[in-house]
Amino acid sequence: MAAAPFAAGDSPSPTAALLPHSHSGATPSPRPSSTSSRLHILLTAALAITTSYLLLHHHHRTPLSAAPAATARPQVKLEKPVVILISSDGFRFGYHHKAPLPHIHRLIGNGTSAATGLIPVFPTLTFPNHYSIATGLYPSSHGIINNYFPDPISGDYFTMASHESKWWLGEPLWVTAVDQGIQAATYFWPGSEVKKGGWDCPEKYCRHYNGSVPFEERVDSILGYFDLPSDELPQFMTLYFEDPDHQGHQVGPDDPAITEAVEHMDEMIGRLIDGLEARGVFEDVNIILVGDHGMVGTCDKKLVFLEELAPWIELEKDWVLSMTPLLAIRPPDDLLLQDVVSKMNEGLRSGKVENGEYLRMYLKEDLPSRLHYSENYRIPPIIGLVEEGYKVEMKRSNKNECGGAHGYDNAFFSMRTIFIAHGPRFEGGRVVPSFENVEIYNVIASILNMEPAPNNGSASFPDTILLPKFCDNVAIFQEEQVYCNQLQELPAGYSVGNNSQC
Ligand code: AMP
Ligand code: ZN
Ligand code: ZN
Repeated sequence: MAAAPFAAGDSPSPTAALLPHSHSGATPSPRPSSTSSRLHILLTAALAITTSYLLLHHHHRTPLSAAPAATARPQVKLEKPVVILISSDGFRFGYHHKAPLPHIHRLIGNGTSAATGLIPVFPTLTFPNHYSIATGLYPSSHGIINNYFPDPISGDYFTMASHESKWWLGEPLWVTAVDQGIQAATYFWPGSEVKKGGWDCPEKYCRHYNGSVPFEERVDSILGYFDLPSDELPQFMTLYFEDPDHQGHQVGPDDPAITEAVEHMDEMIGRLIDGLEARGVFEDVNIILVGDHGMVGTCDKKLVFLEELAPWIELEKDWVLSMTPLLAIRPPDDLLLQDVVSKMNEGLRSGKVENGEYLRMYLKEDLPSRLHYSENYRIPPIIGLVEEGYKVEMKRSNKNECGGAHGYDNAFFSMRTIFIAHGPRFEGGRVVPSFENVEIYNVIASILNMEPAPNNGSASFPDTILLPKFCDNVAIFQEEQVYCNQLQELPAGYSVGNNSQC
């Protein structure tokens, strides 16, 4: 899917972070003669020591003079990079303008955020999306294709309480981390309780899901890790909150209860920031605040009843594996799939089924390819896409239909969520074009210097969003004529170093 264009004035100033870092484009420069070379090295080493001192003691956000490339801010207290990945479930893009939310806006103002939000994967549901964020894979690759679904071969049923590793494909960040000798900790995240690779949800670093744990306690547990000896501090941590999804389902996105819920989320972010500041590590920690999907109101009788399709096809209840907003159907083997799709669409377009024009059925392989929702045997063969805010039901009833829902096509802006990142690797006050959440895996792998597992994110994405690494030992590569963090005019014949070489 194309990234949303920038609105005029939204565009970030072009920094080196936006430019490719490869050396290939640089013109090779002649090597200086050996005496002048030695002099240059001595001179620049002296400059380097001065500038690293300046960097360490300079106030962080002031642009550094003549800096050839903005680099990450140096960490002051923590020895290694640290990432806290926070999910606020169902935090629709735009909720952050419902109230002042000073703490979230502090992260936005001094960090990097996605212009028109983070794009979830389809289906825009909690488990598929959290696991896409953690693995960088689309649901068709990581196997969590819905919150609930049967395995058509074994007949076993997946629920949000299924922790057997057979369901959970791909490699989530906590596994990538521990398998590369990096400590990780999870305070709830779909998939985090599953044994995989070197990760077995260790008691000290992994919480078993319990929605009744107060949010304050979750934040305080994360803060507690910073009181451990430095070799026990996890470098990667997850923190999950059920709100404002919980309220969104009950009352829809436009109710004062949502404003209250996001204000509470802001307090939790404030509690985290305060705790990190009290420990002197706030500026050293990379905080990535995301949601899994948005929310849309479902009032106004936007309903489609499958029973009204009876003149074309009588759908049995047990063919319907999920109803709304993701309609997923597996008819018995003796029916031709294409026949079922054609008959349903014929009925829906006949004008005789209420709201029929807002639902369209597909063989999964005919779904728009941008949805990446066909190549897994767990995905039922027939999928229906409904218009935003519509719901599908078997029969008419007197149920109260007002509330909120998600699960729709990820092209709807109402399904977008937030991406707000703050820390040494994120430029302050920067707004980047919106992107899909499968990119996040590579970003975190890059911050933590981990070799990423194969995934659906783009390998070059981290370079577009992260500040290049800060090297506090200024490197001078005589052979390659490379300088890192060279803040002064370069001697003739020298080129600026690629930070990844530091
Ligand atoms: P959804 O139905 O897609 O809105 O899912 C949101 C719900 O998923 C939350 O309110 C929780 O009840 C549940 N949930 C979130 N994380 C977990 C988890 N790690 N384990 C079990 N259930 C979870
Ligand atoms: Zn959710
Ligand atoms: Zn939900």
